[in-house]
Amino acid sequence: MGSVPLTGSGFRVQGSFRVLGSFRVLGSFRVLGSAFVIALLLGSGSSRTLPESNRLASVVSGFSRTVFAQEFAARAAAPVTFLQINDVYTTVPVDGQGGLSRVASLKRNLAKAGRTPFLVIAGDFLAPSVASSVFKGEQMVAALNAAGLDLATLGNHEFDFGDDVLIQRMREASFQWVVSNVVDTATGQPIGGAAPFVVKTFGALKVGFIGLCLNTQEITGDKLKHTRILDPLTAAGRYLPLLKQAGATVVVAVTHLTIADDRALVERYPEIDLVIGGHEHYVIAANENRSLISKAGSDAKFVARIDVNRRPSGIVERFYELLPITNALNDDPTTAAAIASFESRLGTALDQVVGLTRTPLDGLSLHLRTSETNLGNLVADAIRADANADIAITNSGSIRGNRVFPAGPLTRRTLIEIHPFANVICVVALPGRVVLDALNHGVSLLPASDGRFPQISGLTMSVERGAPVGSRVRDVKVNGQPLDVEKTYTVAIPDFLLKRGDDYAMFAGQPLRVSPEAGNMISTALEKYVASIHEVTPAIEGRITLR
Ligand SMILES: [Zn+2]
Repeated sequence: MGSVPLTGSGFRVQGSFRVLGSFRVLGSFRVLGSAFVIALLLGSGSSRTLPESNRLASVVSGFSRTVFAQEFAARAAAPVTFLQINDVYTTVPVDGQGGLSRVASLKRNLAKAGRTPFLVIAGDFLAPSVASSVFKGEQMVAALNAAGLDLATLGNHEFDFGDDVLIQRMREASFQWVVSNVVDTATGQPIGGAAPFVVKTFGALKVGFIGLCLNTQEITGDKLKHTRILDPLTAAGRYLPLLKQAGATVVVAVTHLTIADDRALVERYPEIDLVIGGHEHYVIAANENRSLISKAGSDAKFVARIDVNRRPSGIVERFYELLPITNALNDDPTTAAAIASFESRLGTALDQVVGLTRTPLDGLSLHLRTSETNLGNLVADAIRADANADIAITNSGSIRGNRVFPAGPLTRRTLIEIHPFANVICVVALPGRVVLDALNHGVSLLPASDGRFPQISGLTMSVERGAPVGSRVRDVKVNGQPLDVEKTYTVAIPDFLLKRGDDYAMFAGQPLRVSPEAGNMISTALEKYVASIHEVTPAIEGRITLR
C-alpha cells in the first residue's frame, strides 16, 4: 500500500491505494479514496489476461462490490455495459487519442460481441472549442447522434451560448437527456423536454438514472434567461424515491458536479450504486460509501467501461475497466462522415491567415495561471486596444490551447484556439481602490495555479506571494504613474468577470461604459488586433513581478 511505483507522466495519487501487477500508465490519473484496489491496463492490448494472483482485484463494501480487473467470467454475466465519456470538447482525436468515431466503433464492437453497451456522456461537450465557436455545438450533437450516444446530462459548458441555443441543441439530439435539477422557470419542468429521471430495462436488470448539473456562478445569469438550476442534492432527494417506485434495482447518478459534491451525494444517498460523473478532467475511480464514482478524463481519450450486475443476493457488482481510445479502434464510418462534413466546413472558414508572430507564444496553462506570459500580454493588449481603455484585466483561464504556439503565421483557427469562448469585452469605470481589489483577488490563490490569475495590459505590479491574501499586490503603476486609489480608471474586462466569474465579485454593479450587450467578442478583437499589427512580437515585459 501507499507508495507510488507507477510514475508515468502526470501520475498523481491522493490517499493510500494498492496497484496490482505492473502496468504502463498513460496520461494523468488520480486515485481518490482509501479502501479500494485498482488495476489498470493501458496502452495497447488492454484486454490482456491478468496473472492468476491478480484476479482477486475486488472490493466488497456492504452490499456493493467493485471489481477493478478483468474477471471475465463474472463480468460476462452483467446485463449492461456502461461506456462513459465526459468533458468532450472535440469530435476528433487530440494528440492521437480520443475521437468519437472510435468510441462509436468500441460500442459497436461490444454489441457485436453480445454485450449490451449503453453510451453515456456526463456533461460538458457543446463548448468551448474552435469548432464550437463556429457551430455552437451543432457539430458535437451531430457526431454524438451518429455515434449512438444513449444518454446525456448537462454540464456547465452546455450553457455557454445561452439556454436558447442549448434548447435548440437538445431538440437536435436523437439521444435521451436526463436532467433532474435544471428547470424551465415558467413550467418547473426540466429544460428542453429532458426527463427528470429515466428507468431502463437491461435483461433482468432495471436501472434508474437521475442527472445532476452543478449550480455554479460560472454559469452567469444572462445564460439562464428562462432556466433555473436547483440544488443538485435536493433534486436527487426528490427523484431517487421515484426510481425505486418505478422498480429500479440499480441506481445510477449521471452527474456533472465537483468530486466533493459527488462524495456528498453518495454519502447522503447510499442507494446510489454508481456515479457516472464529469467536470474534473482527470480519471477518477473511487469507491465512496456504497458507490463507485467514475470520471473518465476528458476528450474521450479514455472510455470508462463499467459492467453492472445485480446478484440474487442483492449485491450490486461493478466491473471497471479504463479503455484507451487509440488508432487500435477503427473509425465508425457513419460517425466519421458526420464529423468530416463539419470539419471541412470549418477548414475553409478557419485556415485563413490573419497575421504572424515573430516569437513563439507561451500558452501553457501552468505558466498563464501563475505568471505573466507573452501570450497573456498579447491577449490583454488586444482587449485594451479594442475597448480603448486605460487598463485591461483578463482571467488567464480564458486563454486556452495549453501549448506553445510556434512563431509563424497565425490563422483564425489558432486565434480561436487561443480564445475559444464567446465572451465579450465590457468596460467599467473603477476607482483605483477597486482595481487594486481585483488584482489582489487575481493573485489570491498563488502559489496554486488558477484560472483567476490575471493577465494585464496598461499597468504593472509586483506581487508578494507570501503576504496575506488581499494585500499581496504592491507598486501598481498605470501607464507608468502610481495607481491613485481615488482616481477613476476605465478598465476593460471579459463579461465573464463582470458576472462574477472566477469569483471576481468587485466588478458587478460598477458604472458600465460598455455593457455586455454592446461589447465586441474577445476572439474577434484578438483577430482584429493581430491583423492590424500584422507582425506581432509580444514579450514578457515585467508587467507582473513575482516575489
Ligand atoms: Zn464542467
